[in-house]
Amino acid sequence: MAREAFPNGIIYFSEHTHYSAAKLVRVLGARSIMIRGQENGEIDYEDLKATIELHRDVPPIILANIGTTMHGAVDNLDRIRDILKSFAISRYYLHADAALSGMLLPWVDNPQPFAFDSGLDSVSVSGHKFIGSPMPCGVVLAKRANVDRVAQSVEYVGCSDTTIAGSRNAITPIILWLAIQRWGEEGFRARMQYSLDLADYAIEKFAEYGVRAWRHPNSITVVFPRPAKSVIQRWQIAPSESIAHIITMPHVTTEMVDKVVSEIASAGEGS
Ligand SMILES: *Cc1c(COP(=O)(O)O)cnc(C)c1O
Repeated sequence: MAREAFPNGIIYFSEHTHYSAAKLVRVLGARSIMIRGQENGEIDYEDLKATIELHRDVPPIILANIGTTMHGAVDNLDRIRDILKSFAISRYYLHADAALSGMLLPWVDNPQPFAFDSGLDSVSVSGHKFIGSPMPCGVVLAKRANVDRVAQSVEYVGCSDTTIAGSRNAITPIILWLAIQRWGEEGFRARMQYSLDLADYAIEKFAEYGVRAWRHPNSITVVFPRPAKSVIQRWQIAPSESIAHIITMPHVTTEMVDKVVSEIASAGEGS
């Protein structure tokens, strides 16, 4: 949608962005510039600013992370918009990848900016992460004017097609609907709080073993030094360079945390 709105736009995203972004940019044949990331997983605002400044004549298409995959880091939408404002850039597109945290931030007391009132043009949330769909699925919310630009009415199915694939799964919307009916706002809030508390529990457990683990505010992604290969394989832990993480999803129990943390600690750090 951003490319349709700004065919010559440059797509910016941080090096901590999910690999699917670079893949889609390649498929689109779009121009893109990767921005440095901070060590905590957030985009490097100075690098973003300096890079946009060099290309002030080209509409920026910015892919912000609302919860990076590895660190659970949230790119600050206010700071990103301040950068655009400082260069008097009014023609831009701002998308947020909120795959996991899009289902956490609506329920916390002090969320980082994550929604349309923070200047987003679109936001995507996975259905098979926090919501727990057993089949891959997700939701993209976008402004109608941008959707209308890509929608094509298809006479023989009697509706407009706004997807890339065309045919799509009719079951997954029902799975999402069912989960939303089952948990409701209060249920999701309780599950979010359970997961946040469990993340803190995991951090304390790590500390008992002398392992420095941490998380971002409002994140259930617990980051710790990359452990030895044996424990990565046994628990299917996701490593990236010098770190690894566990994510305290609602089905995870304190017993599971006890077990995985003690095994990670006794395995020692890896390389
Ligand atoms: C998991 C994840 C994705 C991939 O989402 P899918 O819905 O599984 O395609 C993208 N971005 C982030 C930040 C993720 O954590």
